[in-house]
Amino acid sequence: MDFGFSAQDEAFRAEARAWLSEHAEGGQDRRVWERTLGKAGWIGLGWGESGYGNRSATLTQQVVWAEEYARSGAPPRSGHIGEKLLAPTLLAHGTESQKSRFLPPVAAGDELWCQGYSEPGAGSDLAGVRTAAVREGAGYRITGQKIWTSLAHDADWCFVLARTEPGSRRHHGLSFLLVPMDQPGRIEVRPIRQLTGTSDFNEVFFDGARARVEHVVGGEGGGWKVAMSLLGFERGVSTLAQQIGFAEELERVVRAAVASGAVRDAVVRERLVRQWAELRAMRWNALRTLGSSGNAGASSVAKLLWGGWHQRLGELAMQVRGPAAGVGPVDWSPATPYELDSLQHLFLFSRADTIYGGSDQVQRTIIAERVLGLPREPKGVV
Ligand SMILES: Cc1cc2nc3c(=O)[nH]c(=O)nc-3n(C[C@H](O)[C@H](O)[C@H](O)COP(=O)(O)OP(=O)(O)OC[C@H]3O[C@@H](n4cnc5c(N)ncnc54)[C@H](O)[C@@H]3O)c2cc1C
Repeated sequence: MDFGFSAQDEAFRAEARAWLSEHAEGGQDRRVWERTLGKAGWIGLGWGESGYGNRSATLTQQVVWAEEYARSGAPPRSGHIGEKLLAPTLLAHGTESQKSRFLPPVAAGDELWCQGYSEPGAGSDLAGVRTAAVREGAGYRITGQKIWTSLAHDADWCFVLARTEPGSRRHHGLSFLLVPMDQPGRIEVRPIRQLTGTSDFNEVFFDGARARVEHVVGGEGGGWKVAMSLLGFERGVSTLAQQIGFAEELERVVRAAVASGAVRDAVVRERLVRQWAELRAMRWNALRTLGSSGNAGASSVAKLLWGGWHQRLGELAMQVRGPAAGVGPVDWSPATPYELDSLQHLFLFSRADTIYGGSDQVQRTIIAERVLGLPREPKGVV
């Protein structure tokens, strides 16, 4: 199998690298950065021939862009929920007027989105959603609570999974609504402070918030199908870019092991080599499955591998530091609000890796049922 990049891909890489080295700076304002990306045509590369994206790039060129982005030190994206989750969902299930209203501002980096799925009583078991959207005049009136809503504090819009059929159960009677966030008194966003000292996600309270009838995607009652289809877009090209970031973190841990002398310990050396070998295996696996959607269990296997790998890397980072791991930061920067350096941040944030995007236990159930064909998990036992 040839994993090489063509001459056109390499020309594309040179263009991406040159642009990023001229424009990317670590600490710049995220919203301004999204608009800069949009203006230069770097958002919506994977939207194909829809006509709504910017330049149209092949799958390998999307990988090249993601790799160069990860290498460049550019700020983390705050537009990825709109670009990578909402946009493909609208392309698949939206009406023409929904596409023409919502896709251009995402491609321009003008409107940011957040994902309103999880609730205090509905996480792994998403069909337990209780937030209600009641028909009222030309729209819906939404009441309920979402939680763990990443970037809601910056978002202009939220896609909300809500119950539009009163008294309905499980995945029936749900709808996928596009809700504007700027509704003072009707939507309240409360940040959740994390172990790392940052607040990347929030609680979102809807108290009579409004959504328009024409902003229901997939029709009233068709929300479950749309919501599940969106989850299928969560991974893909971005997995390869993520691995570039992982490789850099692993190098940092190796450097820390050399600096502290921990590298002389045979167990530490063995663990470092194991991390390296597993990362290579994950890369080949990601390349092998690139572009093959619908491969039962492939995304669950990938999630299970990288979530655990990253968490072990965080633990190893603390081990190689020894007692110094618990004290002051080595490379503290103002971007981390309290005194955590990048390896301490890695250790703490990677605790979440086996939870979001579907927890390890849930992935194992999917693999057991859909790949191994084991009997289905009895419902209502856990
Ligand atoms: C960093 C981060 C960002 C997030 N961003 C968003 C976001 O933007 N929008 C959004 O909607 N949500 C978001 N989430 C929420 C995320 O989707 C949920 O945390 C996840 O679905 C798990 O749900 P829960 O937290 O309610 O845990 P629960 O579902 O209550 O699970 C608790 C524990 O029980 C286990 N468990 C649950 N059911 C089973 C079962 N059937 N069999 C075996 N074990 C089981 C789980 O694996 C877990 O260990 C985010 C979460 C994190 C950590």
